[in-house]
Amino acid sequence: MKVTEHIKNAKGTLFSLEVLPPLKGSNIETIFEHIDPLMEFKPPFIDVTYHREEYVYKKRENGLLERSTTKKRPGTVGICAAIRHRYGVDPVPHMICGGFSKEETENALIDLDFVGIDNVLVIRGDSIKNEPRFVPEPDGNEYALDLLKQVHNMNNGIYLDEDLTNVSPTDFCTGVAGYPEKHFEAPNMKGDLKHLKEKVDAGAGYIVTQMFFDNQKYFSFVENCRDIGIDIPIIPGLKPITSLSQISTLARLFHIDIPEELVHEVEKCKNNAEARQVGVEWGIQQSKELMEYGVPVLHYYSMGKSESVFKIAKELF
Ligand code: FAD
Repeated sequence: MKVTEHIKNAKGTLFSLEVLPPLKGSNIETIFEHIDPLMEFKPPFIDVTYHREEYVYKKRENGLLERSTTKKRPGTVGICAAIRHRYGVDPVPHMICGGFSKEETENALIDLDFVGIDNVLVIRGDSIKNEPRFVPEPDGNEYALDLLKQVHNMNNGIYLDEDLTNVSPTDFCTGVAGYPEKHFEAPNMKGDLKHLKEKVDAGAGYIVTQMFFDNQKYFSFVENCRDIGIDIPIIPGLKPITSLSQISTLARLFHIDIPEELVHEVEKCKNNAEARQVGVEWGIQQSKELMEYGVPVLHYYSMGKSESVFKIAKELF
């Protein structure tokens, strides 16, 4: 079922989560162990991230470094199929532009369609680690908008090869990313919102936000979106702090602000266990306020750790 239908049929705020494929070599049980306890909160859909290739350097006998590329977290499509099979929940694979030609994108979408997946979160992806800026493949999509148009073309039976006959249209529901604190490359919020609106006008069914720790940022974002005619559901993405160091790493990696009060509370902690407790308490307060505001879904970035998400959800669902 489509995410938009789940939202339409819901009686209140829904619970959902995002999982990462495990590192190459791990088995699927590591994902199940993570999701199993959270099934108590009846997520109607679960997102599975996509991780592009990375450069790895190996020293050759002559002392020189040899560069190759590898995907450290493969398995997005397989995990989606496994989630659907084990839990009967709708998986939402993330599809990115980076590293894919349009032809490869089309083939990946055909795979998703064949395994019965109804939703995709359409995003651009970041640059390869250590590269200064995002570079699309020579015949790839440059922006999420371009990828979104490709998905919607397939929904209308338009494949890359115009000579194909008797094509079956796909029927994907598409989500896109939104940034309450602005995407880091955008010169200003107004421009970023303009590009978000283009994705909505191209047929996106819903928006999922980057993580944020100050609900006011989400509230103003929603208001600004509504002001420019974005009227689709805007799902807040939440990440509980789970270690002392995340105060700086999350800010740096995701280009977000951490409120002074939260920083202060974490700085008082003597170890990661205490920081995790602060993260849970902050997450509960944030989630309660968002629920009162009437958000359609509370979407948690679990990042391979279910314990804090479980404690937060237990207070709310
Ligand atoms: P876009 O919408 O393409 O926007 C990228 C930038 O370009 C923005 O600054 C925008 O303002 C600007 N822009 C857009 N259109 C134009 C235009 N026509 N001209 C000029 N500028 C333009 N990354 C992964 O690798 N894998 C994942 O699984 C993943 N999941 C994510 C899930 C969520 C909910 C979020 C919020 C992010 C996720 N990301 C993931 C990270 C994401 O790939 C990065 O944030 C990426 O830098 C931007 O993706 P986007 O889809 O927002 O890009």
